[in-house]
Amino acid sequence: MADLATLVSGIAAEMQAMPHRGAVADYIPELAKVSADHFGLVVIDADGQEHSAGDADTRFSIQSVSKLFALVEALNRDPDAVWRRVGREPSGSAFNSIVQLEAEGGRPRNPFINAGALAVTDLLTSDDDPRAGVGAILRLVRSLAGDDSIATDGAVAYSEAATGHRNAALAHFMKAHGVVRGSVEACLSTYFHQCAIAMSCRQLARAGRFLAHGGIDPASGRTITSPERTRRINALMLTCGHYDASGEFAFRVGLPAKSGVGGGILAIAPGRASIAVWSPGLSPQGNSLLGTLALERLAHAMGWSVFNPDA
Ligand code: GLN
Repeated sequence: MADLATLVSGIAAEMQAMPHRGAVADYIPELAKVSADHFGLVVIDADGQEHSAGDADTRFSIQSVSKLFALVEALNRDPDAVWRRVGREPSGSAFNSIVQLEAEGGRPRNPFINAGALAVTDLLTSDDDPRAGVGAILRLVRSLAGDDSIATDGAVAYSEAATGHRNAALAHFMKAHGVVRGSVEACLSTYFHQCAIAMSCRQLARAGRFLAHGGIDPASGRTITSPERTRRINALMLTCGHYDASGEFAFRVGLPAKSGVGGGILAIAPGRASIAVWSPGLSPQGNSLLGTLALERLAHAMGWSVFNPDA
């Protein structure tokens, strides 16, 4: 098996030299300002050793990776409420698709497409206290990462709110079907602010460790969620975490992972490692192009795959 430290720096060097880096998301104007030249990688192994390379400590917009933490929070509060509103099937559609939601009566396929995430966020949103939802998600990621400085980037949240008409359409449609129950405005505001949370690869990899270790955060010994729920969240990440490229990701990498249009991916090698990678250039499906390639290289070299009986 490859030496992890050497591997991580080798992969970062290879990715930093890649000429084709994908296109940075520009439908959220603030994200278009980020250079495609960034690359960061952090792998935290089961002993807590952190192996990092590149822009490992530069904060970026976690975007849809936040859907994972919102889901954990909502499931810990009331799992039945979550599964009454959203399904657990891969969508095979773009993350912001509208047509499937209408065809299926306003019930989103899964919690990781935008519609499903908005329905989950609605569960965390209180009309009386518009900051409660994002506050709960921030509390969770801050405690997991052990860093109270993690915050929402106000400029990104504002930029998405100003241009987030598709998300508004999805939320209004679900309100019409009773899937979103509270105020649509409060739900959207919470969603835009959770997506605008800025974290580094190191913070993200630390925040993901409980998913590699049966729901227990090894840094604090705290139980974040049950072993069974952890397995199920990992199953959802594997089947739905990359939208209409989830099958391709499972084929190439074979690990549960959640991506975001900021170019970040959090991947979990159960029992082995929590991995965060960041490269802002995206594939046409909105997943980090080099982030995916880096994870493919890492998983292959380490033999890490949920389909590998020896891993
Ligand atoms: N905030 C983004 C949106 O709603 C998140 C999408 C993503 O990261 N795939 O469009």
